[in-house]
Amino acid sequence: MKDVVIIGGGILGTSLAHWLTKLYEGDICVLEKEDRIASHASGRNTGVLHRPFYLDPEKNKIFTKSTSLMYDIWKRYTLENNLPWLEVGTLEIAIKEEQYNHLEKYLKWGELNGIDKKDLTLLSRNEVKNLEPNVECVAALRCKSDTAVDYSKLTEQLKIDAESNGAKFILNSHVEHVKEDDECVSIHVKNISKPIQCKLMINCAGGNSIDIAHMLNVGKEYTDLHFRGEYWIADQPYDSIVNTNIYSVPRHPSFPFLDPHWIIRVDGRRQIGPNAVPVAGPNVYEGIAIDGNELISKIIEILQSGTRKLILNPEFLSLFWNEWMSSLSKDVMIKRAQQFIPKLKAGYFTRKGTAGIRSPVLNNTGKFVSDTIELDGPHTYHILNYNSPGATGAPAYAAYIINRLEETKMLNLSRKNKQPGIWNFEQIVSHFN
Ligand SMILES: Cc1cc2nc3c(=O)[nH]c(=O)nc-3n(C[C@H](O)[C@H](O)[C@H](O)COP(=O)(O)OP(=O)(O)OC[C@H]3O[C@@H](n4cnc5c(N)ncnc54)[C@H](O)[C@@H]3O)c2cc1C
Repeated sequence: MKDVVIIGGGILGTSLAHWLTKLYEGDICVLEKEDRIASHASGRNTGVLHRPFYLDPEKNKIFTKSTSLMYDIWKRYTLENNLPWLEVGTLEIAIKEEQYNHLEKYLKWGELNGIDKKDLTLLSRNEVKNLEPNVECVAALRCKSDTAVDYSKLTEQLKIDAESNGAKFILNSHVEHVKEDDECVSIHVKNISKPIQCKLMINCAGGNSIDIAHMLNVGKEYTDLHFRGEYWIADQPYDSIVNTNIYSVPRHPSFPFLDPHWIIRVDGRRQIGPNAVPVAGPNVYEGIAIDGNELISKIIEILQSGTRKLILNPEFLSLFWNEWMSSLSKDVMIKRAQQFIPKLKAGYFTRKGTAGIRSPVLNNTGKFVSDTIELDGPHTYHILNYNSPGATGAPAYAAYIINRLEETKMLNLSRKNKQPGIWNFEQIVSHFN
């Protein structure tokens, strides 16, 4: 019997394994359905280490705090392990006068979320022009310390560290079914006849986490939708038109992915995106469904769940048809981006970048849930709706989860002797009290 089984080898599951094996004696393993970790959101995101100026410190507090805590830690970790770190900075721009108050609000939130004052400044239109002559806006908030990183490599490094502390990563292990009784959890993995049994199972299966929770009748009031975000890479020499990340104040805060942004990747590539293509599953990187059955089961799920209420909502319908569907074309997306980088042309983007899939959760009233959701069964813990900027804060968030599991006695393992280093568990969790 294993002590802890984590489902999902993304950045969150790997961070949990990293802490668990650093802190405790025990048999701890990660089940990952792919042949390598970070195959999905954790390896397909835009690679921005986000500073939390756009996160309300009063909402989703743990998630926001996790994001703010990780900047210094990731900086030291990338340096220690010789991983890429490119401090490119971000301009959050107001395209219209009425968006200016959002920038003021973000400035206040940024300061409350611990961003150094010297890293966060409000710029006038002319100050933006001096910095980025090809950017058009009313004003901008500049965050100097937003940084480009490679979350795939960071997750891989965490795995190496966890393995050296005793964690086992079992790849090609697709969890198909889970059962829980008074004693333990039995996890059935595809092509393995005998179930894996454990005292505690942690579900952090990303876009599949709701499906795993539903196997245990947990979180039945929630469902999810999947949107593929596609990006296009700027060809040379047009990639040097702008040298900072550019985000605009979202026009529809519930659907921030409808506003394209210009991103500098850690390898220097510049890309624009995303659009938001509705797809049937969290791994559908081409087309809209892996097979017809997947599409049919998603349609059935929609008809039976709160999603039905969302898709009958007139405001959502108008947004969907008038803005969303049109944004699927590259030309329309570039047109939107021309509002703030007028020099852009669709012809400058001939290659697609890496697509990633967002899986926002809906409740039974048909509303998108903005916060991360944690649910538990007697021997299981489920983390749902762990969305952007989840990669930035994952290790701190994982520390919070472990502290909670220990406090509630769901986790009952003996502690190892303290190990010095940059991963100071006690210090991180003290921020959540
Ligand atoms: C397009 C996009 C851009 C983003 N940009 C950023 C950004 O710039 N900065 C930032 O901080 N965040 C960003 N995010 C958010 C961030 O990437 C995610 O919050 C984070 O990666 C989630 O990590 P995770 O481990 O929870 O999920 P995942 O990385 O999806 O990992 C879940 C794992 O579970 C595995 N799994 C699923 N089902 C099963 C099963 N049945 N059996 C076994 N294994 C299973 C999957 O294969 C997967 O490896 C972005 C997200 C997207 C989609």
